[in-house]
Amino acid sequence: MKNTDEKIIHLLDKVLQITRYIQWQINKKTGISPLSAQIIEYLGNASRDLRTPAKIAEELGITRPTVTEALKSLIKKGYIKEKVSPKDKRFKILYLTEKGKKLLKNSNLNYKDILKKSIKNTDKAQKENLFYSLINFVADLNKRGILPIARICFNCKNFEKNKFEGSKKPHYCKLLKQRMGNFDLNVNCEENLKRRSLWVKK
Ligand code: SF4
Repeated sequence: MKNTDEKIIHLLDKVLQITRYIQWQINKKTGISPLSAQIIEYLGNASRDLRTPAKIAEELGITRPTVTEALKSLIKKGYIKEKVSPKDKRFKILYLTEKGKKLLKNSNLNYKDILKKSIKNTDKAQKENLFYSLINFVADLNKRGILPIARICFNCKNFEKNKFEGSKKPHYCKLLKQRMGNFDLNVNCEENLKRRSLWVKK
């Protein structure tokens, strides 16, 4: 393989295999589907506002009926439970039960822990380059409609790229009134989460 683009695609595919591997391990041990494993992993890491059925469907890029079916099965098997939102009684928030938390903890379902070890073994400059390449990559996938949700600075109306070109912190967030370096860029912005109106229209 000589073409650099092809090599990058091959390497990204290797990284993606981690989640597939974990989901199959879970499936082997528990019989729950890879999608259910993905939902458990998601619920173990997402903030409360992102744990409604609608948000799960949106964030994971799957249809509402598919999510509803998977949630029903996970509730029946005792891995998750639902409670009425304390903020708004019209919404239900999903939680992992003790059984769900145990599964997440014992089965390496949390791929973030696996990746964390490899990232820790990467030197600072490589890490920074990787971060900047990945954020550009995600922004492009989002722009093309392939990744429906990406709350990153590049897609935000408040972001002014290279406003102070040539300086250590060349970018600017109009909302937070803050200058930002390449590695200060936000990848899961709370402000962006609160207001959809901040997203750049595609
Ligand atoms: S509001 Fe958040 S996403 Fe938007 S530019 Fe500021 S930090 Fe970035």
